[in-house]
Amino acid sequence: MTLKELSLDVMEQFKQILLKEKEDTLKVIRDINNLQMKGVKNENGDLSSYSKHQADQGTDVDSLEKEVYLLENLQEKLKEINQALKRIYDKSFGICEMCGCYIEEKRLQIVPFADMCIKCKTEEEIKKSKRR
Ligand SMILES: [Zn+2]
Repeated sequence: MTLKELSLDVMEQFKQILLKEKEDTLKVIRDINNLQMKGVKNENGDLSSYSKHQADQGTDVDSLEKEVYLLENLQEKLKEINQALKRIYDKSFGICEMCGCYIEEKRLQIVPFADMCIKCKTEEEIKKSKRR
């Protein structure tokens, strides 16, 4: 396995992928928000407190919980995409945040917003699962 620095061309390709991904994610978030606006009154627009409030009332929690969960996932993804874009702009994209090595291009093609090499990511997952 040869690890190497990403060329500017490749970096540019990832930037386009990430921008597209960001657009798609934002669109889905907007769609879910629109659906929720239509279906229910949501005065402050704060989904997490809204979800808890709704859970207290015990009405239609299941589907709502799912939407909130999905939304949280999407927002998390959006955050990762934004961070990846930031890394592209400051030229640290493709470098593992943990050990500083270059992340394999193959891995980035699957997860363009990956911020860790596969080795560090695996270790992180193990640590996480132990904490639970
Ligand atoms: Zn690493």
